[in-house]
Amino acid sequence: MKGIERLRTAEDLGLIRVNEPLWLHSRWRIGGVADLFIEPLRADQVARACARAEEEGVALVIVGNGSNLLFSDAGLRGAVLKIGRKFSHYTVKGNIITAQAGAWVPALARAAANRGLSGLEHAAGIPGTLGGLIYMNGGSLRHSIGETVRRVWAMDRFGNVKVMHNAECAFSYRRSIFQDTDLVILQAELLCRPDDPSRIRRQTLEILEERKRKFPLKLPNCGSVFSNHPELYDSFGPPGKVIQDLGLKGLTVGGVQVSQKHANFIVNLGGGKAADVFKLVSLIRAATFKRTGLYLECEVRYVDERGRLGPLHTFLDEAN
Ligand SMILES: Cc1cc2nc3c(=O)[nH]c(=O)nc-3n(C[C@H](O)[C@H](O)[C@H](O)COP(=O)(O)OP(=O)(O)OC[C@H]3O[C@@H](n4cnc5c(N)ncnc54)[C@H](O)[C@@H]3O)c2cc1C
Repeated sequence: MKGIERLRTAEDLGLIRVNEPLWLHSRWRIGGVADLFIEPLRADQVARACARAEEEGVALVIVGNGSNLLFSDAGLRGAVLKIGRKFSHYTVKGNIITAQAGAWVPALARAAANRGLSGLEHAAGIPGTLGGLIYMNGGSLRHSIGETVRRVWAMDRFGNVKVMHNAECAFSYRRSIFQDTDLVILQAELLCRPDDPSRIRRQTLEILEERKRKFPLKLPNCGSVFSNHPELYDSFGPPGKVIQDLGLKGLTVGGVQVSQKHANFIVNLGGGKAADVFKLVSLIRAATFKRTGLYLECEVRYVDERGRLGPLHTFLDEAN
């Protein structure tokens, strides 16, 4: 029996599906078929899935809401471990929110706002899970979730859980220690500040309105494709402005396009492929380099057929 088959038939891992279309799990609506899809309901099932995958030598890719992930057109020869809706319980005590990694970030921001807790306003419109947000140290308006995280419960691939304090998470701009490990984030404690609920709600609404105005929310996308580059920013501005100034808005490859609304977004017009995104990213990076002498780096992450995962631009050489 092959490793993937033994993993499929292992007992009590949660919900299991075979030959799962990955496009269902990426906000870009792109991706081939994964051999196996596992959705645990409890931490012991996460531990079992990790340990069995390790024993069987099966690639195991952790996925939250897939709002920052591009999957290969060839799918995944391995398994997806989804930490999502089934893992989204949270509690609020005083100014501390303790949430499972699959908690929906906008729901946490709303819960905080309703209780007069400040600190998550900037994350109100980010369509991801808490685990994904912590992994990416995501945020907006010069804030990131790392500012609010007090502790993180993370599991290694042998099922051991460790509690990591903020300093151990090594948060910096769109970076965290989790990107350099294969830990599974299970839960986190967020430390908010009490503030006037009406101020928090007003600010949250303003942020959401602004996002609606600026971002192409009607077509499938994975948010900002490129991350801010300090040197580029100082001389030329943020990636979206640089790409717009190059006249690349609307540039289309196959089924994907540089958004007409915001040039740092690539939208799927329908039928887009990962290969199209790769070509478009290459074109944008080449044009930016020609103009500025600097290469843009991707915030979005790519998962290849073997389950390797990293910033999309780090796979470009292999794709070309
Ligand atoms: C319309 C739109 C707007 C966006 N706006 C913003 C924004 O303003 N700011 C911003 O920072 N981002 C933004 N994003 C990008 C994205 O929403 C964030 O990066 C988000 O935090 C990703 O969460 P996710 O659950 O979707 O993670 P996924 O995309 O599923 O995964 C992202 C990475 O996290 C890892 N991961 C996920 N869960 C876990 C876990 N439990 N344990 C270990 N690793 C895990 C995955 O392996 C992957 O490497 C936007 C995306 C969209 C589509």
